[in-house]
Amino acid sequence: MNTFENIGINKDILKGLSSLGFQEPTPVQEEVIPLMLEQKIDLVSLAQTGTGKTAAFGIPLLQLTNPKNRQTQSLVLCPTRELCVQVARDIKAFAVHVKGLEVLAIYGGASIEQQIKSLRKGIQLIVATPGRLNDLINRGKVDISGVRYVVFDEADEMLQMGFQDELNAILANTPSEKNTLLFSATMSKEVAAIAATYMKNPVEVTIGKRNAGAENVRHEYYMVHARDRYLALKRIVDNCPNNYSIIFCRTRQDTHEVANKLIQDGYNADALHGDLSQAQRDQVMKKFRSKNLQLLVATDVAARGLDVNDLTHVINYNLPDDIANYTHRSGRTGRAGRTGISVAIVHMKEQFKIREIEKKIKKKFKQCRIPSGEEICKNQLVSLVDIVKNVAVDHDQIDPLYAEISEKLGDLDREELIKRFVSLEFTRFLEYYKNAPDLNVTHGVKKQQTRKQRVQGESPKNSKHKQKFTRFFLNVGRRDGILPQGLIGKINGVPGGGRIKVGKIEIMRNSASLEADSRYTLQILDAFQHVKINGKPVSIEVARNSHAASQSKHNGTRQRKGRKFKTA
Ligand code: ADP
Ligand code: MG
Repeated sequence: MNTFENIGINKDILKGLSSLGFQEPTPVQEEVIPLMLEQKIDLVSLAQTGTGKTAAFGIPLLQLTNPKNRQTQSLVLCPTRELCVQVARDIKAFAVHVKGLEVLAIYGGASIEQQIKSLRKGIQLIVATPGRLNDLINRGKVDISGVRYVVFDEADEMLQMGFQDELNAILANTPSEKNTLLFSATMSKEVAAIAATYMKNPVEVTIGKRNAGAENVRHEYYMVHARDRYLALKRIVDNCPNNYSIIFCRTRQDTHEVANKLIQDGYNADALHGDLSQAQRDQVMKKFRSKNLQLLVATDVAARGLDVNDLTHVINYNLPDDIANYTHRSGRTGRAGRTGISVAIVHMKEQFKIREIEKKIKKKFKQCRIPSGEEICKNQLVSLVDIVKNVAVDHDQIDPLYAEISEKLGDLDREELIKRFVSLEFTRFLEYYKNAPDLNVTHGVKKQQTRKQRVQGESPKNSKHKQKFTRFFLNVGRRDGILPQGLIGKINGVPGGGRIKVGKIEIMRNSASLEADSRYTLQILDAFQHVKINGKPVSIEVARNSHAASQSKHNGTRQRKGRKFKTA
């Protein structure tokens, strides 16, 4: 067994690690730590999520930092506030016994004055999101001219979120004599672009297979009609009574809607996305980590890199547009040697995406049947009985009341008593799943439900208002490296943009089209003004016949047939 001591970690840091229960380095740490300690190199390190990348760079950064010098010596850049807070928290924990070493998280949404005050102390290691750091640089409140190490954590996400300009500005304020390191789960275009732009002959350390899905994750998919997506989600959740899951949606709007529906339907759910205030986001994460929240509905960006153990499922409510994100999503489960399940809810036209993902992760999905109401009820019942069997009884409190209870229940025999207690907890499920229809779609054969079933059973409510979509046409496409998230990110970036519903996005070779809420047409046109992709100025216009073809249902996920555009 290799130890942190063997790979050259000093005493003070060892103490911190051992109080965290870190006994031996993980493979990525074993590779990266000695490299960073012994050589001055630029580095691209690719390892699956959950393999300990934070410590792989955090530990050597600490050791390479001189606590006696108050200058900022290391800079870690993260795409989201949550990740920033988490990485800073981890590095602080490694450094608790290192005297005089200050680590600070700098991110938007929190008080800038407080951050400025903390910076005055002299912070040797800054963990930052690009937006806020850039802001502080512009105000002259942070000096990174003496930085010797820059780390990009989850680098690709930063580019996808459109932080390119901020990154350029930040890097321009660092000395050219420094080492730049990048950590990611997957090798993507963005990772390659960062390596090419900001690094000098980077050494590449790849642990495990490139882009491989985590070994102990099972991949399953359920095929339903698009309109039944939400009902399918509920069944999947209901079928696993101790469910503790992240549910991924494509846009903030979907995230918001799915979380709200779940809450209305009595689930312990909440949403995590960029429209929430920092305080709200912190609160949601805290509840989720402490398991006071069972279902976290999140966007890719909000949940990227978050380290939460013990998840039972990762649920792809929608498959991500970019397959690399599937790896990131499914890597959220099956951590720390446990097994996890990554579930995708797809409709028929998305089946090809499953095949694409299989190719990429080199693993097969198992197609599963959406459980019937009866199966779910049985599972729930068994779980309820288990809970009753294992409940701790506080005899001191109960015994004095027992005589009274016993008298009241005196005329019920055992069988009657059991039935009543089960009904008490369980009627909700029995009622809900009474006459529940089969949601499975089998090989294109549409199972007809009777109208009565749909009405009595689970008919999706709330499809009253149709949303008007406008289709936009852009002069950039796959060849220019644009991705759906990039477009969505740009739209989310306009004021109030999180509320803008995005419909179908099509990326062609030289052009792209996207649909979005018509009420925001001007803002969306504005958002793409003066935008350049790989040096090419982007032009955006409203597509002709844009309204006629674009009446989407309120969920915005309806697919339409036919391509209206020729490539430019
Ligand atoms: P990644 O960034 O690769 O997704 P993280 O750095 O978030 O992974 O680490 C995942 C989990 O593994 C964290 O809970 C972390 O505390 C734990 N961990 C990391 N390194 C070790 C180690 N050497 N021993 C035990 N646990 C570790
Ligand atoms: Mg990480």
